[in-house]
Amino acid sequence: MTSPSLAPGKPCPICGKPALERFRPFCSRRCADVDLNRWLSGVYAVPGVEAEDDEAAGPKPDDGQD
Ligand SMILES: [Zn+2]
Repeated sequence: MTSPSLAPGKPCPICGKPALERFRPFCSRRCADVDLNRWLSGVYAVPGVEAEDDEAAGPKPDDGQD
């Protein structure tokens, strides 16, 4: 079995430093956070359909109970 649980040859995708097993595939929690933020930004920026759908279903003035 060749399970690269440590993968010492994989550099951090953020800064290029040797990644630590603890923060794989990043070298530190900071880099992981950076990637997470970047990922979230991309996710929120790419699909504008969900936002539209949410907007269409959000402002629904169907409060005709008055
Ligand atoms: Zn890094």
